Amino acid sequence: MSATRRIIIIGGGIVGLATAFKLGRRLPSAQITVLEKETEVCRHQSGNNSGVLHAGLYYKPGSAKARLAVGGIQEMIAFCREHGVPHEVCGKLVVAVDETELGRLNALHERGQQNGLQGLRLLNREQMREIEPHVGGVAALHVPQEGIVDYPKVCGILQQKISERGGRVVTGAKVIRLQPQSNGWLAQSKAGDFETDFLVNCDGLHCDRVGELAGEKREVRIVPFRGEYYKIKRERQHLVRNLIYPVPDPQFPFLGAHFTRLIHGGIEAGPNAVLAFAREGYRKTDFNAADFFDALTFSGLWRFLARHKRMSWEELKRSFSRRLFCESLQRLVPEIRQEDLETGGAGVRAQAMSPDGTLVQDFCFQQSRRVLHVLNAPSPGATASLAIGEEIVCMAAGQL
Ligand SMILES: Cc1cc2nc3c(=O)[nH]c(=O)nc-3n(C[C@H](O)[C@H](O)[C@H](O)COP(=O)(O)OP(=O)(O)OC[C@H]3O[C@@H](n4cnc5c(N)ncnc54)[C@H](O)[C@@H]3O)c2cc1C
Repeated sequence: MSATRRIIIIGGGIVGLATAFKLGRRLPSAQITVLEKETEVCRHQSGNNSGVLHAGLYYKPGSAKARLAVGGIQEMIAFCREHGVPHEVCGKLVVAVDETELGRLNALHERGQQNGLQGLRLLNREQMREIEPHVGGVAALHVPQEGIVDYPKVCGILQQKISERGGRVVTGAKVIRLQPQSNGWLAQSKAGDFETDFLVNCDGLHCDRVGELAGEKREVRIVPFRGEYYKIKRERQHLVRNLIYPVPDPQFPFLGAHFTRLIHGGIEAGPNAVLAFAREGYRKTDFNAADFFDALTFSGLWRFLARHKRMSWEELKRSFSRRLFCESLQRLVPEIRQEDLETGGAGVRAQAMSPDGTLVQDFCFQQSRRVLHVLNAPSPGATASLAIGEEIVCMAAGQL
């Protein structure tokens, strides 16, 4: 690597912060600046997720997701141990609710083995109830390597480490224009102008738009899928010990509503996956005209809706009906009742969609002259963030 002096990372979520952290370690003399539009870091996906450490069970062998989740979980756990971040490797059950799901459960087991996960075990009904006494279903896959963590705390430590090494995290700095210059870029933001030799775009829900500011074509677009959660009432939390997941539908990158024990106590159920009318639409009523227009004029979305009418409609109905949400949870834990559920928070996934209406399954990076864009970093992006940061450093090495 040569003597690049200035590097700007746009986006202060966990991926942007992990990238800045890794770049600072690799290039100690570089000036690293993170520009974040909000008044603090970690306000979007990184602060509104399930808080689960994913070990790489689901992803196609050889994909970036598989590679970076398998390596990333180890690195994340080591980071948490070193910096005192609350976390726990509590293990997870993926539950086949009836015989029709056994084939997919077995396929998941094989995939996990191909990805190098250790200690996976297929369990019968009695064995799975020793781990989760209230679980329903006919069989389960036990994934002992997975766990729970406080991702906002991870972001806080990353921010602190970046500053300790002389880097800066500038908040209130929404980037509104990017001008190419002979040696790099001028990033114009709401907190002033910043010159840089190299740019990294880690903008989550807005990464395609920031890419466009840098002159890229917006072929793949971000489509926001809101994930809503319920909390389980305190007196019923004994129904779930740790993590209980359904067998996911392989057509979608979403894992299905699950039960999650939170690292600071409590049990959450969710998230669903509803198309949102705003990229930062955390409430059902949130509407953003620009985002809505953007989505309506994207042919990919229409193709997606035509292909997945039923799923999209079912998700919408489930979003408005506690009864339907509860019914899907009862498939995993039959004793759960509607009155056990209290409305919880929500997160919005930045999911890239191709013009043909397919959801981009893998992490997606794109490099041009003096810029690297992260164009798809959905789950397990938080688990894999440190590994993604390292990947970005390696990919950009030739230009740094
Ligand atoms: C409901 C849900 C559940 C999930 N569960 C898990 C899980 O259990 N485990 C897991 O590993 N992953 C999970 N994920 C995925 C994980 O949260 C993401 O992969 C990860 O947070 C992505 O981080 P990011 O930094 O790319 O995005 P973000 O955290 O969204 O950060 C992007 C940042 O860019 C900023 N920004 C945008 N535009 C601009 C601009 N123009 N100028 C300056 N700043 C800008 C935003 O304000 C934001 O802070 C989940 C995600 C969701 C939504």
